[in-house]
Amino acid sequence: MYQENGRATARRHATMTQYRVIVDRDACIGCGVAAELCNEVFMLNPGDGKNQVAPKYEVEHSDSISVGIIPGELYECTLSAVQSCPVEAIRLEKIA
Ligand code: SF4
Repeated sequence: MYQENGRATARRHATMTQYRVIVDRDACIGCGVAAELCNEVFMLNPGDGKNQVAPKYEVEHSDSISVGIIPGELYECTLSAVQSCPVEAIRLEKIA
């Protein structure tokens, strides 16, 4: 019984965890891989063709940077974009 409760608590914490994702738009070469792998979180900006966090999650935007706050359930697909970016332009940080 205790173990079941423990697992349920762990699951709740995992889904409540949030992450900050930071796109270095100066470094981005607009290859489109981020949006291809994780289109819930990333999109190519129609103006300059560079990656940005989708408006639903974006909290800061400029020509140089795009910052978003994403829920834990989007961590895996966001991480796949981080790991696949050819110029390492995306950072992912857990929010304490
Ligand atoms: S994978 Fe990297 S270089 Fe390609 S669009 Fe995304 S941020 Fe830009």
